[in-house]
Amino acid sequence: MTDTAQSDSQPKETAKTQLMRDSGGSAAASESYAELVADLRDTFRKGHTRPLSWRRTQLEALVAMLSDNEREFAEAMREDLGRPPMEAFGADIGTTRTEIKHMLKHFESWAKPRKASMPITVQPARGRVIPEPLGVALVISPWNYPVQLLVHPMAAAIAAGNAVVAKPSELSPATSAVLARLVPNYVDDQAVVLVEGAVQETTALLEQEFDYIFFTGSTNVGRIVMQAAAKHLTPVTLELGGKSPTLVASDADIEVAARRIMWGKFLNAGQTCIAPDYVLVEAPVRDRLVGKMADTLREFYGDDPRLCDDYGRIVNGRHLDRLQNLLRSSGGTVAIGGQIDATDRYIAPTVVVDPDLSAPIMQEEIFGPLLPVLTVESIDEAVAFVNDRPKPLALYVFSGSSAIIEEVIERTSSGGACVNHCVMHILPSDLPFGGVGPSGMGAYGGRAGFDTFSHLKSVLYKPQKPDPRLLYPPYTAMKSKIAHKAM
Ligand code: NAD
Repeated sequence: MTDTAQSDSQPKETAKTQLMRDSGGSAAASESYAELVADLRDTFRKGHTRPLSWRRTQLEALVAMLSDNEREFAEAMREDLGRPPMEAFGADIGTTRTEIKHMLKHFESWAKPRKASMPITVQPARGRVIPEPLGVALVISPWNYPVQLLVHPMAAAIAAGNAVVAKPSELSPATSAVLARLVPNYVDDQAVVLVEGAVQETTALLEQEFDYIFFTGSTNVGRIVMQAAAKHLTPVTLELGGKSPTLVASDADIEVAARRIMWGKFLNAGQTCIAPDYVLVEAPVRDRLVGKMADTLREFYGDDPRLCDDYGRIVNGRHLDRLQNLLRSSGGTVAIGGQIDATDRYIAPTVVVDPDLSAPIMQEEIFGPLLPVLTVESIDEAVAFVNDRPKPLALYVFSGSSAIIEEVIERTSSGGACVNHCVMHILPSDLPFGGVGPSGMGAYGGRAGFDTFSHLKSVLYKPQKPDPRLLYPPYTAMKSKIAHKAM
């Protein structure tokens, strides 16, 4: 344990944790949340969260929290999602730690005023864009990457100098409980508070006036969040979902494409916002692709993935039923997998060839280990297919031809894209991550996250003298002539 942390065996008892624990019922919750937000705003207004040294201490404490408790976080994710420890580390604990380390390296330079060039019309003058913290931010996260999707935006809000209320998902209760116990032991609870809860608590939180709301979750709940934010004119980032298409051209390296698609799809048992949702493959290579997918799955998980420790489980019975119904009504051919064991929340990695386009599996975000593979005659047809549907969060294209790749990237719109791989585009801090249209608005990661939680205030500095009269009435012909020359 580092010296930034207190004992992690017992949660630190404070006025705020007491208040959050005692709040029962929605009216009471709303009242105690109002008090909580008022306290945090007071802390913010006193300038408590502004010093770069305070921000650094909190970010270092978050890194320490992740390092000191890696095993406990991994065990909690195993309980919630049957998550293999390697995936718990690689996709949650490790990525979040790397992201916060990147912030630690750069946030002081991101916080500096940014110089702006001044046109002749305002000279003599100096211009600066000054990033200032917004106030009290609310971060709401989903259950599928329960550490990363809470702690990363929380850290970005802290790096930008804000107070934070962070609300993990009730559907990953083991991880939520670990976070609720550890966060107050590591970070300054005068300014950063974690509130556990489900719909009722989140609704009560959303009634409060925040200065920023950062929501990750489904498109439907995103609408609810945006409506609540509108009441206070609170700006939002919405990190939502969608159906991320994966295009495979006939000139692609099919073995590599199959391996990468299988990894990106079946990581976390398909419960990844940017998992390939469906594949559009050119007809001549369709069967070879599906064959290589079957070989890859055997290589990854053995003959029976159920017995393999490296394959996860569905988060709960409701989602298992939902996925079972998607599979039953797909109208396609189950080429790989299809086995379901509800008692173990297990669905085998499943590939469905040529499902019905009107079936729910091709209408809703799948968010589980079912992969439709559709045959197209050309990449042109695949591009038209994508463009006929809502803009997705991610798009993947596999091809050996840069002309095909550029054509697909240019002619389609998606939150982000990855060429000849899947999911990996979320990793580089300098590639802002976010959706477009129904897959979300705003982005974070690296400086984009810092800017998200900042107001970029433009300030023009003028000297008291000289004070040329050109600007002021009376507007003479000479002044007009000079103005026309300058502008
Ligand atoms: P969800 O929208 O059901 O829940 C997200 C959060 O909202 C949770 O904290 C939950 O408590 C809260 N919530 C749920 N219903 C609410 C309501 N009626 N009013 C107020 N708050 C409510 O999403 P989920 O099931 O936890 O996550 C899955 C979805 O999230 C998928 O659509 C997935 O694509 C998306 N997702 C997006 C990203 C991204 O980065 N874009 C990442 C992960 C997941």
